[in-house]
Amino acid sequence: MIKKILSGRIISREALEKEKSIYCEKYRMREYLNNPEILNSANDSERAEILKILQKKPSRTYAGVTVIACMTMPARCPHGKCAYCPGGVEIDIPQSYTGKEPSTMRGIQCHFDSYLETTSRLYQYHKLGHAIDKIELIIMGGTLPAQDIDYMEYFSKRCIQAMNEFYENLKIIEKSGEEKFTEKYNDDKNRSDGGKFRKFHYQEEIQRANEKAKIRCVGLTFESRPDYAKKEEILGMLKCGATRVEMGVQSPYDFIYSIVDRGHTVQDVIESTALLKDYGLKVCYHMMPGLLGNSEYSRALDFRGFGKIVTDENFMPDMLKIYPTLIIKGTKFHDEYIKGNFEPLTTENAVRLITDVMAALPKWVRVMRVMRDIPAYMIEAGIKTSNLEQLVDKKLKAGNLKCMEIRHREVRNENIDFDNIRLLREEYNASKGREIFLSYEDIENDLLIGFLRLRTPSNFNKTKNVFVRELHIYGKEVKIGEKAKADEIQHRGFGGNLLAEAERISCEEFDAKKISVMSGIGAREYYRKFNYKKEKFWMVKNLS
Ligand code: SF4
Repeated sequence: MIKKILSGRIISREALEKEKSIYCEKYRMREYLNNPEILNSANDSERAEILKILQKKPSRTYAGVTVIACMTMPARCPHGKCAYCPGGVEIDIPQSYTGKEPSTMRGIQCHFDSYLETTSRLYQYHKLGHAIDKIELIIMGGTLPAQDIDYMEYFSKRCIQAMNEFYENLKIIEKSGEEKFTEKYNDDKNRSDGGKFRKFHYQEEIQRANEKAKIRCVGLTFESRPDYAKKEEILGMLKCGATRVEMGVQSPYDFIYSIVDRGHTVQDVIESTALLKDYGLKVCYHMMPGLLGNSEYSRALDFRGFGKIVTDENFMPDMLKIYPTLIIKGTKFHDEYIKGNFEPLTTENAVRLITDVMAALPKWVRVMRVMRDIPAYMIEAGIKTSNLEQLVDKKLKAGNLKCMEIRHREVRNENIDFDNIRLLREEYNASKGREIFLSYEDIENDLLIGFLRLRTPSNFNKTKNVFVRELHIYGKEVKIGEKAKADEIQHRGFGGNLLAEAERISCEEFDAKKISVMSGIGAREYYRKFNYKKEKFWMVKNLS
């Protein structure tokens, strides 16, 4: 692995993660290879080069926060199994995963104990010198909201508790190593009082502690299906501190749902999308082009489907993850493929389709990811390349196509001329409400500095309450409490200005009486500075 980095055969973090998965599989390693282990195996002259790759995390830390994904234990989906979906309880792998993705391997290694998963990931980041004080937590694996609510609460609570206690645990890890720490942790299982690590704490207590902790959970994402993202499930997720829900939507057509055994309808998508937004949550759709195969008709339908979800007011998600259909062993699609009944989308056609989609997306959508992180050797047929996203970027550039979606324009480490920054506004109707997308942008260089999503919900006339569903400032993560350096964007007051503008619009244009911010647990202190108070799941300010 070190040789491959030094010779330039591994040039990105994504390529490194893929290589690590192949390596672990090849040598049947019981534990997932972590980056500090790679670093420790290098000599002094190799270290500097290797660190360049290991510390390369643009997509995770340039968005201003560090992402930690935790995997829940395998469980059945309530409707059965979708035709393309790998994993499942029969093979002891979380539904929808192959067991070989880095996040699944970490889950397996930690026996799906969310405290250990979070501690282990924080330790990896810490060892590599990444800022870890603002964490975006993603809880993955099947349809968690369909499981017992107690499990969802316990799992998420323990992730946040691990953040609160990390620096204390770090002392043990640095003194005796990660293995010894895990041993000590597991010893507490047998103690009736839960010992140091498993002593009972209420969810509210842990969340309150996180509000002022050194490592704060500034965002929490749950994955679900449209028929399990209704009022009851939403209230459960909000209680756990959710700020975003990712839904497997895949396509906006009922006939496709019935072909692939989705077990829900487009009406479920419409209802859940509206409810999630009306509760102030952000909504991310997982979309799966190629469900009908590789034909011209299928691609045209996929393109129309993408068009529909970003123009039809019933949908309009804030974010997308585009995961083309892949053929994985153990799925119904695999059986059909073997019988010669299904031809999966090719790389070339996927690039064409996704390029056209990207060029047509509005500026308020963020494409979080293109392509699952399933290692190529697990893919029986379909797209095996790990750089689909780069191929799409290349095609966009070659065709001189402008891409307005958020991730293409968000500022990373570019030098900003602060004189070029303007406050812009775009509006649209969505899910029977009105969305106002406010952004600070460098208009000369077409760079997005930050944005705010303001929504008048469908019941606004009754409640007079508006929601700030998202406030995000991009650029390199600046630690909580620290001032921005000359070239840094965060902590310069852009967030406060966007919030003030949202309040002004709410009062003057909508005559709103109240504004509620969907704040991550660890961002609540930030809103207190602007005189917001916690009310139920939101940070709230009366406007009259
Ligand atoms: S709902 Fe999602 S996790 Fe469940 S079977 Fe379908 S694709 Fe897999």
